[in-house]
Amino acid sequence: MDRDPRYDILFEPLAIGPVTTRNRFYQVPHCNGMGRFYPNGMVAMRGMKAEGGWGIVCTEQCDFQADADIAPNTDINLWDEGDMPRFSNMAEAVHRHGGLAGIEFAHNGQEVSNLYSREVPIGPMDRPANYGRVPVQARAMDLGDIRAYRRSHRRAVLRARDAGFDIVVVYAGHDGTMPFHFLSRRHNQRCDEYGGSLENRLRLFRELIEDTREAVGDRMGLIVRFAVDEMMGSDGLEWHAEGREAIEMLAELPDLWDVNVSDWTNDSKTSRFAPEGYQEDYVAFVKQVTTKPVATVGRYTSPDAMVSAIRRGIVDLIGAARPSIADPFLPRKIEEGRFNDIRECIGCNICVAWSKMAAPSRCTQNPTFGEEWRKGWHPEMLPPAPDREHVLVVGSGPAGLEAARAAGQRGYRVTLAEAGDDLGGRVTRESRLPGLAAWARVRDWRTHQIGKMPNVEVYRSSHLTAGQVLELAPDHVAVATGARWRRDGYGHFSTTTVDGSDAPHVLSPDDIMDGRRPPEGPVLIYDDDHYYMGNVLAELLRAEGHDVTLATPSAMIAEWAGQTLEQHVIEERLLEAGVELLPRHQLLAVDHGEITTRDLLHRRERRIPAAGVIMVTARLPANGLFHELVAESGSLRDAGIRSVRRIGDCHAPGIIATAVYEGHRYAREIGVESNADALPFRRERQVVEALGAAFTSR
Ligand code: ADP
Ligand code: SF4
Repeated sequence: MDRDPRYDILFEPLAIGPVTTRNRFYQVPHCNGMGRFYPNGMVAMRGMKAEGGWGIVCTEQCDFQADADIAPNTDINLWDEGDMPRFSNMAEAVHRHGGLAGIEFAHNGQEVSNLYSREVPIGPMDRPANYGRVPVQARAMDLGDIRAYRRSHRRAVLRARDAGFDIVVVYAGHDGTMPFHFLSRRHNQRCDEYGGSLENRLRLFRELIEDTREAVGDRMGLIVRFAVDEMMGSDGLEWHAEGREAIEMLAELPDLWDVNVSDWTNDSKTSRFAPEGYQEDYVAFVKQVTTKPVATVGRYTSPDAMVSAIRRGIVDLIGAARPSIADPFLPRKIEEGRFNDIRECIGCNICVAWSKMAAPSRCTQNPTFGEEWRKGWHPEMLPPAPDREHVLVVGSGPAGLEAARAAGQRGYRVTLAEAGDDLGGRVTRESRLPGLAAWARVRDWRTHQIGKMPNVEVYRSSHLTAGQVLELAPDHVAVATGARWRRDGYGHFSTTTVDGSDAPHVLSPDDIMDGRRPPEGPVLIYDDDHYYMGNVLAELLRAEGHDVTLATPSAMIAEWAGQTLEQHVIEERLLEAGVELLPRHQLLAVDHGEITTRDLLHRRERRIPAAGVIMVTARLPANGLFHELVAESGSLRDAGIRSVRRIGDCHAPGIIATAVYEGHRYAREIGVESNADALPFRRERQVVEALGAAFTSR
């Protein structure tokens, strides 16, 4: 299909100083949990973005000296020549597919504790280093330190040029880098020429930009990445005050302004808390104060919204991190007029969570993300099926849908049977809960793809028994029958069941999603799951008029949602809605009309009125069909069924991303003899020095 002329503007080349991007798709720097520890994975992932049509593909933030050591995080580092190969590989991987390779340098100053390097952190002030409340203080930089820091930044920029990079990003954003700390009144109370007036506080940022221009400006494009608003009112930078003045003062220095809001929790909001394009209000002024091109982010996945942002004069380039993770081929799909094939980011921040946990990132929508090198998975291509065998997939949740789709793409004859009237399993059910509508994209993209495949047949309202599976006699069976929430209170913290939890007024999230409701009166939600379900149900029941108390044994409400950058927003929303919050409370017993908790701080028991109790603790796999089938090995053989596998929540209940990944993996591995002794992927290895060298003391 040809490109619709409405979208031509997205494919106009644009000069970024001395280099030219082929189109308006700019993969902004983004963490990926691979970086310095898994560089081959990082390189292959970036190359895939260029293959998918992104005009500019950047590294994540890259630190460049030992006193900016971001351990235990994995972001890439360029400390000396020895680090160069991974960078030249990345530049080459991007160039191979016609993209420009960009590198973002960052010194995190007082944000790091230098856990690995043991160097003393540096920053504008003497103050506690911020990372993880580690008992480490940063030292105020003197003028000599500032000169040394600038020299080191310049050296890193030259190395990036030598590694083949086309673009360098000077970065002051996210409340996390040195020039931003100097700029911030909160962090900078110096009395020298780097403190006081805005001009002084901007001095270091200006110097870094000018140093970079002088060093490589004739060869490399110079992007300045800057957060214009900290979303904390006058306590921080505001776009209509110093945010704007800063841009006015530096207006013509960069080749491109990449502007956003700070900190990371505001920049990468989830779909539960912000719609597509939500940063536009903050950055719309930038084009009025500079003649240089401008880019921003905002989880753009719709080509119309992208065109509109350019036509309305907000931006010249569409910046994207998450949309490029969910669909590395987004630009090519727009170019080829295949809009419905775009795998839209659902805004869940699972990608963020894994990189925050210092592990290779993963994506709910794109199961191949992070697997490009270690498993050799391509997001668009799967190997053809060796023959047209028949695969039966039982259950159409995210695992079953992805298994059926990917097996269908490989050319298998696929039957997908779903017990319910609707496809999508938990995704359909959960997307009806407050704020989670965008999650339905997991289902919608897959059902659309399956709809185009004549070799995939879908049967709704078809609850299959083991006998029916045997009658159908496929070659392979994937059991993707999901999981059910427990009602008995067993969870992360509570390893025994709760007394009285078998009472009829104790409900599970499944009961609520099935339409059941607690009796009139106060409701207690017990959250020993620590992610979204407890607080989403609290929002729902509160909106329906219940008095809701959310109790959790954790010291924090929705503790794990800190990894998805949502924890504090969830807390705020619940408090605004009038939900009573009870952290550090373990549920001990459910009685008629009340419950007993133990306050884990004061070690006191407490009785709280509760007409209804919702247990959000753990799930059990719905694996009955699987066990029935594998118990019948003779019948399986007689029916010609060669393999039966359980996938997704039926295998082990987890997040939606895991179910999609399992479905995808299944489809790739159909018919492959499993070898429990073999490693499931290629590994990245550290180089080990010869014994003599390794242990020579210096
Ligand atoms: P996952 O996250 O692993 O994909 P879900 O719970 O989202 O799991 O989906 C499981 C789906 O399987 C549900 O839609 C459920 O209705 C369906 N299902 C469960 N048992 C059967 C069965 N015996 N036959 C057909 N479909 C089933
Ligand atoms: Fe988007 Fe979620 Fe994938 Fe991240 S993990 S790119 S937020 S779909």
